[in-house]
Amino acid sequence: VKRDKERIESMREQIQLLIKLQQIDNESQRQESALSAIPQRLASLDGERREVDQAVWLAEQGLEALNRDYRDLERENKACEAQIAKSKVKLAAVKTNKEYQMSLKEIEDLEAKRSRIEDDVLRVLENIDEAKALLTKRKKESQNIKEQVAQDEREVAAEGRKIEENLARLAAERAALVGQVRSDVLAAFAMVKRRVGRGLTIAPVESAICRGCNVGIPPQLFNEIQRQDKLYHCPNCQRLVYWQGH
Ligand SMILES: [Zn+2]
Repeated sequence: VKRDKERIESMREQIQLLIKLQQIDNESQRQESALSAIPQRLASLDGERREVDQAVWLAEQGLEALNRDYRDLERENKACEAQIAKSKVKLAAVKTNKEYQMSLKEIEDLEAKRSRIEDDVLRVLENIDEAKALLTKRKKESQNIKEQVAQDEREVAAEGRKIEENLARLAAERAALVGQVRSDVLAAFAMVKRRVGRGLTIAPVESAICRGCNVGIPPQLFNEIQRQDKLYHCPNCQRLVYWQGH
C-alpha cells in the first residue's frame, strides 16, 4: 500500500511536470513565431521609409518638369517678341496696301500667339506654386514618418532582444524540468507531441470529457484516470490525459 501511494504521488508529480513542460513548449512556440515575424515587420517599416522617399522624389520631379516648361515658354515668348519687333520694322517699310494688310495680319497673329504664351506662363507659374507647396508638404510628411519609423524600428529591435531573452530563459527552464521527468514518461510525452504537433499533448479531463478533443471518456476509464497512478491516453484522440479534479 505504501509503495502504491508513493507511485501515485510520484505519478501525480510527473503529470504536473508534464503540464508545466507543455506550458513552456507552448510559450516557446508563441515566442518563436513572434521572433520569426520580426524581419518582416522591419522590412515593412523600411518599405514605409522608401515610400515617403518616393513621394518626395515624385514631387521634386513634378516641380522640375514645371520649371522646364516655364523656361521653354520664356524662350518661346522672347522668340515671339523678336518676331513681332521684326514684323514691325517690316511694316514700316511696306510699299503697297496689300503688303501693309499682310504685315498687319502677321503682327496680329504673332500678338495672339504671345498672348497665349503669356496665359500659359501664368498657368505654369500657378502650377509651380502648387508644386512647391506639395513638395514642402511631402518633405514634412517624410520627416514625420521617418521619425516614427525610426522609433518603431527601435521598439521592434528591443522586442526582438526581449523575445530572445525569453527563449533563453524558457530553454533553461525546460532543461531543468526535463531533468526531473522520468525517461519513460518523457518518451510517452514526446511520442504524443510528435503525433499531435501544435496544441495540447497532455489534456485535462473535466466532467468526463477530454479537453483535447471534447469527446466523452468512458466511465470505467474515467474512474481509472482519477487514480492518477499511471499515464492514460484518451481513446478518441490518443492524447495523454489527466484528471482536472472534477
Ligand atoms: Zn481526446
